[in-house]
Amino acid sequence: MAATPKKNKRLHLATWVRDRLWSESGGHCQNPECRVDLLSFVKRKHVGELAHIIPASDDGPRAEDGRALTDAERALPENILLLCPTCHVVIDKTPGEYPPPVIHGWKLLSQEARAIAHGTPVFTSRSKARSAIEPLLSANKEIFNQYGPKIDVFDDDRADQWRKQVKATLLPNSKKLLRLLAANRRLLTTDESDTVHIFTLHIQQLQDRHLKGDWMPGSVRFPLAMASIFEDKS
Ligand SMILES: [Zn+2]
Repeated sequence: MAATPKKNKRLHLATWVRDRLWSESGGHCQNPECRVDLLSFVKRKHVGELAHIIPASDDGPRAEDGRALTDAERALPENILLLCPTCHVVIDKTPGEYPPPVIHGWKLLSQEARAIAHGTPVFTSRSKARSAIEPLLSANKEIFNQYGPKIDVFDDDRADQWRKQVKATLLPNSKKLLRLLAANRRLLTTDESDTVHIFTLHIQQLQDRHLKGDWMPGSVRFPLAMASIFEDKS
C-alpha cells in the first residue's frame, strides 16, 4: 500500500524529471497565454519554477483532485510543469480556475509547440518531403483498409478496433503529417495546398468525433489526392 502524502512536504525531483520538463517547455512558461522566456537570467539564475498539478503535500492546491496519487506518481513529469513565477502563483492561489484537466491541456499544447518548432524537418526537395510522409500515409491507409467503416458492414469488433486504432495510431500519424505539410508548405503546388486544406478539415473532424465525441453529420471525407502529395511524375 502506498504511503499517503503528508502535509507541508516538498518532494525531491530527479534530474531526469527536471531535464524532461525543461525540454518539453522549450524554456518558455507552459501557460499558453503567457509563454514568457524562462531563460531571462537574473544573476546567472533562470526564472523557471517547477509547479505541481497535484501537489506534493496533501494541503496544497488541487490536493483533493489527486488523493489516490502516491509520492512517486506526484514526482513524475506528467504531474509537473514549468511556469514563470507569476503563473505559478496564479494557478496555486486560484486552483478552482485551474483544475488538473486545464493544466494537462497546457502541457499538451507545449509539447505540440515544441514538435512544430524543433521536431519537424524542413526539406530542400519534394522527393525528400515525399519520403518523409509516405510511411505515415501508408500506415494510415493500412489501418483504414483493415478496420475503417464500410458501407453495409456492421461489425462491432471492427468498429471497436477502428476507434482504438484511430486514437492510438491514425490521429498521431495525421498530426505528424500536418506538421510536416505545414513546415514544407513552400514545396506544395497550388492544387496540393487545396488538398492539404481539405485534409486538415478532415482530420480536425475525425479528432472531434473520436476525442471529443462530437458526431456532427456531413463530415469532410479524406481527399484521395493526398495519396500522391509531393509525388512528381517522372
Ligand atoms: Zn507565465
